[in-house]
Amino acid sequence: TAARKPAPIQRLDETVINRIAAGEIINRPSNALKELIENSLDAGATSITVTVKDGGIKLLQIQDNGHGIRTEDLPLVCERFTTSKLKIYEDLSTIQTYGFRGEALASISHVSHLSITTKQADSECAYKAHYSDGKLAPAKPGGNSDPEPCAGNNGTIIAAEDLFYNIPSRKNALKNTRDEYNRIYEVASRYAIHNASVAFTCRKLGATKPDLCTQQNSSAINNIGQVFGAKIAASLVEISYECKDLDASFSGYVSSASHEMHKSVFLLFINHRLVDHTPIKRAVESLYSSVLPKASRPFVYLDLRIKPENVDVNVHPTKREVRFLNEDSIVGAIVDCIHKKLTSTNNSRSFAIQQ
Ligand code: ADP
Ligand code: MG
Repeated sequence: TAARKPAPIQRLDETVINRIAAGEIINRPSNALKELIENSLDAGATSITVTVKDGGIKLLQIQDNGHGIRTEDLPLVCERFTTSKLKIYEDLSTIQTYGFRGEALASISHVSHLSITTKQADSECAYKAHYSDGKLAPAKPGGNSDPEPCAGNNGTIIAAEDLFYNIPSRKNALKNTRDEYNRIYEVASRYAIHNASVAFTCRKLGATKPDLCTQQNSSAINNIGQVFGAKIAASLVEISYECKDLDASFSGYVSSASHEMHKSVFLLFINHRLVDHTPIKRAVESLYSSVLPKASRPFVYLDLRIKPENVDVNVHPTKREVRFLNEDSIVGAIVDCIHKKLTSTNNSRSFAIQQ
């Protein structure tokens, strides 16, 4: 077709910008839950309870016993780029909290009906506030938007209802509520394994028995048993290694030669962040396939610590990806360590067949 005249360039409306950005950070209920769990952990919670209706689409609620939110911060807490965690850019290199971008609550408030009930330990009562598009909103149309004093426990309850009510295409893509619930359970159980000092509960609304229920001050291996079954937990071997010259160390549990896994399971935490890291996954899978009988796949829980200055956690808004220095050498050290462990465990019958 013939060249047309260009359309005039216009500035997007702020709510449009925010909704587009929100859709990038919150793809599905389990993404939102990851952000909410991280906020609870940042708030020092020792108990976290997740309640879900219809795969988190109708309701995704998280209750914690953390330090709560200051009442005077409630008008600001759901605005984009508002945070209590990062002050200057340089803080990023040593950040100890999961959060720093101040985007999670804002995003969720742009794509759901969000409410926050929070109480600090030294407050006389809790406050409940409703949000829409980043701002305080009335509970009912025409009502008052101010946070309302109410009874409540110390800590914070965040409830997101009707996720993606204003993004029909996204909502339609999430028809399978069972699949969404499984993803929620996966996020909650992985954080429970890695944060074994914190009690985690995850249940469907109205269910008498929770699907996940870990105790305070449990251990990673104990919680692995709860989630994946005692048989798998009993078949794992512990690894731990310090790479002094690389400013890195790691520990965890991996499946041994004696147990055949039919599906790979990777629980990978880098500086406590649950991440995907394809090079580590590939290298470990290829080690297992070269060393173990054909059908066996790895179970790997890896707690990798790298000097914060050497890690870039700001690659993507969801922080699902990280980059770090000396990647090849660190991956190599992980594979070596697992290899040694696998070949030194008693049950080396399967190695003999392979070699
Ligand atoms: P970020 O975590 O990057 O700071 P969020 O949008 O996730 O951004 O949260 C904004 C702010 O809200 C946090 O900095 C924190 O001060 C507060 N907050 C959120 N969730 C909780 C919670 N469960 N308990 C206490 N404070 C919270
Ligand atoms: Mg956060």
